[in-house]
Amino acid sequence: MGATGITGHCLCGAVAFQSSASPDEADACHCSQCRRWSGHYWASVNVPLASFKVTKGEDRIGWFRSSDEVRRGFCRDCGSALIWQPDLHPGHSRIISISAGSLDAPTGVRLKKHIFAGDKGDYYEIADGLPQKVAY
Ligand SMILES: [Zn+2]
Ligand SMILES: [Zn+2]
Repeated sequence: MGATGITGHCLCGAVAFQSSASPDEADACHCSQCRRWSGHYWASVNVPLASFKVTKGEDRIGWFRSSDEVRRGFCRDCGSALIWQPDLHPGHSRIISISAGSLDAPTGVRLKKHIFAGDKGDYYEIADGLPQKVAY
């Protein structure tokens, strides 16, 4: 959707959401947590938390606390990995990260970089020529 925001939903359709922001970049995270959670690597877009709204199935979102400062949201019905959210406290940016794979096309998004490339799985190579950060 580009200039007018983005929408997305889980595999079964129980959970849907939107953001009034129009992110144009996605990151692919290769850390072991994201690989286990997503099944491969986790591609996502960051949007301001204030721009994000669950439009359907808020009660169908399950939350898993993957670290002291981050929780991850998924659909309780179909298991789709949907949201990566850092806790809000002073010094943390108020963003929420949405699965790029959940977005409705046209997304207006391009994959721009790989993060935690140093932690990638041993069963694939990153060969698309995009920048690779060892960490974030
Ligand atoms: Zn679902
Ligand atoms: Zn990660």
